Amino acid sequence: MKELELYIHIPFCVKKCAYCDFLSAPAGELEQRKYVDALIKEIEFNRDEFSGYLIRTVFMGGGTPSVLKGEETARIFQALRGNFHVDENAEITMEVNPGTVTKEKIVQWKESGVNRLSIGLQSVNDEELRMLGRIHTYEQFLDTWELVRAGGFDNVNIDLISAIPGQTAESWERTLRTAAELGSEHLSAYSLIVEEGTPFYDRYGENSGNTGNWPPLPDEDTERRIYEDTAGILKEYGFHRYEISNYARPGYECRHNLGYWERREYLGLGIGASSLIGNQRFHNTADMEKYLNVCKDMEKGKEQFGRQTFLHEDMEELSEKDCMEEFMFLGLRKTAGILCSEFRKLFGKNVEEVYGEPIRRFTGQGLLKREGGMLRLTERGIDMSNYVFSDFLL
Ligand code: SF4
Repeated sequence: MKELELYIHIPFCVKKCAYCDFLSAPAGELEQRKYVDALIKEIEFNRDEFSGYLIRTVFMGGGTPSVLKGEETARIFQALRGNFHVDENAEITMEVNPGTVTKEKIVQWKESGVNRLSIGLQSVNDEELRMLGRIHTYEQFLDTWELVRAGGFDNVNIDLISAIPGQTAESWERTLRTAAELGSEHLSAYSLIVEEGTPFYDRYGENSGNTGNWPPLPDEDTERRIYEDTAGILKEYGFHRYEISNYARPGYECRHNLGYWERREYLGLGIGASSLIGNQRFHNTADMEKYLNVCKDMEKGKEQFGRQTFLHEDMEELSEKDCMEEFMFLGLRKTAGILCSEFRKLFGKNVEEVYGEPIRRFTGQGLLKREGGMLRLTERGIDMSNYVFSDFLL
């Protein structure tokens, strides 16, 4: 059987954070139930097309999937198991946020087969959390953490964000050390990006002028120190960096995300979800009304618009050149790098035949390294990854 990853999007949050441009919004129970009904229809509709696939990972992200009532989550997982072949050893992750987790929900997630949780902490500093517009304090995160551990979850990620306004290298170090000491199996540490259309963009975007009473973003030196210190600090606690922004204890790397970087096939279900099937990339509509309407009668939608377009906003047929580029810049995000023989297997050429010049140049500059059939970024190369990746565009 071919293998497939599933991504399920839950577009609900208690309140919108000030930096967030994800597809998510607050919603009442009725709206949530209608969405889950639609999602289940979409799952059922895909049953035949993906009957030859074995599901190796499921990732329920958002938004905040933990805002759903436990029985709604259970309905989604029941539909998944009833319509797809979910491997008995599948990694099944759910994103959760402090302030939305209860003992009862944890029991239901376990019963639904969820075996990995990802908790959004972002910072241990309450002032920084307030700055981000998060709904919780560090204390409230700790309540969630204890519930999750008491509920038997032994594969847990903690999400952190660096370069928060007002953050110093010292406050970031405190966040890292405090989070690492909790003993989670995985940590993600992404830098804050000021996205257009967010309250942060009004405060800190190109034309914002002045930040008023809000503290400024960390300066370049602080940001560099934050970036460069992270891997070393986490190493002290037994975490190894396996991707530019992801750290794990041995054996706890996120299989689902590794699949993205290895360009495995994945199917996205739910509003706005993206997919890679064969060499086609497509996105579900981001329009809730359209999503709910089409899902109500999938067969009619299919008749009207055709199988591949009735839920999808776009459909891109990737060329060989697109696939090569993706193979390189997604694969090089992993600290293990890319397997050169895999490139040859997929594209019928040696990687040097296509990328000889940048490989020679970056190897000479100490940013890339060829070792045991792998090509990978060096530590310095990881620090300058954006610069390196831009030269792998053909
Ligand atoms: S909890 Fe996450 S998805 Fe929801 S608004 Fe905040 S950052 Fe966005």
